[in-house]
Amino acid sequence: MIKFRETIKENTYHLQMIAELSGEDISNDYYCGYRQESPFPLIKLLKTNDLWFDYKPHLLGHPDIIALLCMISYYAFFCNLVSKDTIIIEFPRPISVNCAKAIETIYYYDPTNKNTKSKKIIINNVSSSIISYGEWIKLNKVTGDKPKIGISFGGGLDSMAAHYLFPKAYLIHEKNYKNMDYTHTMIYNKKYGKKAYSIESNNKELCTMHGWSSWISCVSTSLLLSSDLKLEYIFLGSSLGSVYLNNGRKFFNAHEKPYVNHWYKIFHEVGIPILTPMAGFSDLLLAKIIPRNVLLTQLNYCTFGIDGRNCHKCWKCFRRDMIISYITGKPIINNIANIVNMDNINNINNINNIILLYETNETVRRLMEKYIMEPINENKMPSIGPTLIYILMQVDCRENIKKIYPVWIHKYAKAVNTHIRAMGGLDLDFIKLFYDKSTKLFEQYNIDIKKIINRKLSFIMKQISPMVSKDYSNLENWGNS
Ligand SMILES: [Zn+2]
Repeated sequence: MIKFRETIKENTYHLQMIAELSGEDISNDYYCGYRQESPFPLIKLLKTNDLWFDYKPHLLGHPDIIALLCMISYYAFFCNLVSKDTIIIEFPRPISVNCAKAIETIYYYDPTNKNTKSKKIIINNVSSSIISYGEWIKLNKVTGDKPKIGISFGGGLDSMAAHYLFPKAYLIHEKNYKNMDYTHTMIYNKKYGKKAYSIESNNKELCTMHGWSSWISCVSTSLLLSSDLKLEYIFLGSSLGSVYLNNGRKFFNAHEKPYVNHWYKIFHEVGIPILTPMAGFSDLLLAKIIPRNVLLTQLNYCTFGIDGRNCHKCWKCFRRDMIISYITGKPIINNIANIVNMDNINNINNINNIILLYETNETVRRLMEKYIMEPINENKMPSIGPTLIYILMQVDCRENIKKIYPVWIHKYAKAVNTHIRAMGGLDLDFIKLFYDKSTKLFEQYNIDIKKIINRKLSFIMKQISPMVSKDYSNLENWGNS
């Protein structure tokens, strides 16, 4: 049996998993599994599996919410358990019947055995006298109040765009206690107002490899605050690339099965749906939604640089910097003010100096060869996704864009453009247009939240046109050739 325990120590909230059968002892490496996120590496739960958050829920958190928090935090380590007939679980407090039913459907993704599913989850403490989180929210809702939304806020391109589209939503950030974190500092300095929270945690340090045990852990802090803030919805900033394009690789029809991701289904059934209102926008469009000064100075997509700011050395920073330079025509100044004279940011040599940082960076250069040159040499499409392909094509054929980027990038831009032309051209208009079919993702939800999302989307569609039939076709066939 697996038992979860919660404790409150001064101002921190703690969860711990306790295994009760010998042979399943946490000290035996029995609790291991695949990180529930591509590329699904094998991870082991650390013996001291005490998960803590620097936040004490005033209402202690609805028991259903705490049960979800337990499951998203520890389920990746259940690989050895899913081959058994039953998994018996006891949560810190009894949960509602609704929540128990939803949790019983949890699916374990094992990349080595795609048929593996948990046989049966038996929850030891279910109580018919506990009302589900969703019902509890309805009881506590003041008539006429708008739905309360929390954005799981990382501070990067997607969640920042969600913030600018839905400025009244709460921003909820998780800070790793080990790292400096610029977004945390900005929230702490009230840069994002009273409705922004940054919670310190060891959530990314629970296992043998740094990082969350599952992609869904990005909502942990939103869950922890949900009972206090009476949150009805959690928004993720996930863009077109992550919802429909498998991060640029191949189109994936997110509408085909109504609840294609089982976590979305479970959260919906417990009464705190996760929505992705930015799913119709490419990264290029997200960058257009964010004000330029914020793009250049506040956006934080990596924490490995000075003071937890963007490092401008890694592949993620490189991809983002390529987009931001394209949209603004300016260098990225936020964490490299010490390198660039701030008064001279329009100087082309300075732009070159910044992007030159990447030129001397082995990782970025190696990946440029791997994702661009190797596929081209094999007569395949570069595997960098449509946005970066589009930008590189523009760099090669438009002088005013070319001069923003340094000479070493021109070589890759030329290779991409020449290859695409030889293949007969490529219509990438779809990354500049809104994928209005994404509104299908919200069809099943309450009219109140649909109104909020649709009002915002129709406002943005005054500036960004929707795709037409040829664009649907180009997007929906992406990765098929
Ligand atoms: Zn970086």
